[in-house]
Amino acid sequence: MPKFPGIKGIFLDEDPLIEQGSKRLRGIGIPDCGLKKSDLKKDESAYIDAKYIRKSPPELPEVSEPTVVRHFTRLSSWNMCVDTVFYPLGSCTMKYNPKINEKIASLENIKNLHPLTPAGLIQPVLKIVYDFNEILCGLTGLAEFGFAPQAGAAGEFAGLKIIKKYFDLKGENRKTILVPDSSHGTNPASSVLAGFTPVEIKTGKAGTLDAEELKKFVSKDAAGIMITNPNTFGVFEKDIKKIAEIMHNNGSFVYMDGANFNAFLGSVKVSDMGIDLIQLNLHKTFSTPHGGGGPGNGAIGVVESLREFLPVPYVKVGGKSTGVEKDSGEKADGGNKSNNRKDNSYSRQVYELSEDKKNSIGRMTPFLCNFAVVLRAYAYLLSLGRENIGSVSEIAVLNANYVKKKLGKILSGSDPFEEGLCMHECVFSDKAIEENGVSTIELAKLLIDYGFHPPTVYFPKNIHGAIMIEPTETESVRTLDNFIKAVKEIKFKTKKSKAVKSPQKTKVGRVNEVLANKQPVFKY
Ligand SMILES: *Cc1c(COP(=O)(O)O)cnc(C)c1O
Repeated sequence: MPKFPGIKGIFLDEDPLIEQGSKRLRGIGIPDCGLKKSDLKKDESAYIDAKYIRKSPPELPEVSEPTVVRHFTRLSSWNMCVDTVFYPLGSCTMKYNPKINEKIASLENIKNLHPLTPAGLIQPVLKIVYDFNEILCGLTGLAEFGFAPQAGAAGEFAGLKIIKKYFDLKGENRKTILVPDSSHGTNPASSVLAGFTPVEIKTGKAGTLDAEELKKFVSKDAAGIMITNPNTFGVFEKDIKKIAEIMHNNGSFVYMDGANFNAFLGSVKVSDMGIDLIQLNLHKTFSTPHGGGGPGNGAIGVVESLREFLPVPYVKVGGKSTGVEKDSGEKADGGNKSNNRKDNSYSRQVYELSEDKKNSIGRMTPFLCNFAVVLRAYAYLLSLGRENIGSVSEIAVLNANYVKKKLGKILSGSDPFEEGLCMHECVFSDKAIEENGVSTIELAKLLIDYGFHPPTVYFPKNIHGAIMIEPTETESVRTLDNFIKAVKEIKFKTKKSKAVKSPQKTKVGRVNEVLANKQPVFKY
């Protein structure tokens, strides 16, 4: 059995950058612009309006390049992150992001693009968005995706606005959206923002929504249901087809919160479940680093009948452009004339940025989309290839069930859904650890000293002291065994007196979390 990663390294003290400088120290040399200060003074209005000229220089840290490099490298070592430790927060927070995505997104000619570059000059960018839409349609069975929403919650909002507009145009005044109590907090919030009243439905014992229970809530008031599948307990909504049928018979829509798409990516199409709309959190499922609130993309996908409602602008194939390519000579075809086209003429698709969607809910962003996120997602999928996409969800589900079974033995009596399998994540209550005097928050903090990022805690709300673990597909059995062993040690060997003081090996120990949020201290 391997050793725990643990924490033993060096933590260096670090002052704020602003305190580390000294006058006139510079990290870079800027060539002399040829203007003297006195020249500028003479006729400043010729260059910059006098009112914009500073009276004194800005108070920026004056530091050398090595100081800056060391500063940020040291700070980064104080943190746990997905590149250093097992991160059981899973895809919903951030799964491992393969470096190839970053490499592609930081190619010179992409990262320096101006957002207002005319469509004619960014044909490859538009082609990527267009092709990516086709891939998502293939994976979901839906008709089209809009890429304007810049987060999952913004995707929910777009989807609900679409539903709202659909009924407005039909002259139907449907006021409510049904939301199971297992849903993410953004679901009721988006419903309210889009002008609906959310109506909560209690989930049954198995953690799922019961079709019979749902029937009690269905009326002509219901514009739709928002359902997360698998739900936030990590349980598959096995009645989903029946649920969709009930809603459709009522003329209502089925909106799926697709934040948990990692659980069946490439294995099942949501169209087969009867879903009408879904947002895919590209930054979650398709591996974009998005710490600290961004960047994101909550692509909103819809069925055929709702395509005309999607946000604008979108990428459309226009006419074909034809012409004659310059003869690139021997080099381009390796001198192999026999394998060459007969002439040099070409005919190419032209991609346009179009606004023509008859019932569009309008613009959500000043530009097309958060392109770098779409690009990373595209790179992620192409690097997996069609034949491997399904194995992402298969291994993610396998890993979660491995943890569920093995940890279930250690935390006996704490798995509310012990019967049956979970999907991409498993959830335990604090029952077994409480018996030994350790609470969920203490387990989370203790795990840090073992060298693991804590799992999601106290969510879902309706499980007492919830501990939710989403290992994702990239973790090895070795890592999972190691994590399970750490929980076992905590349960059986840890004294309460130690638990309340943990973490003890980190740079910053136990903080008063309420106070830390209200009065953050940035200097340590
Ligand atoms: C993360 C998440 C959201 C919201 O997505 P953001 O990109 O954070 O806005 C919605 N629903 C579920 C189930 C989620 O996990």
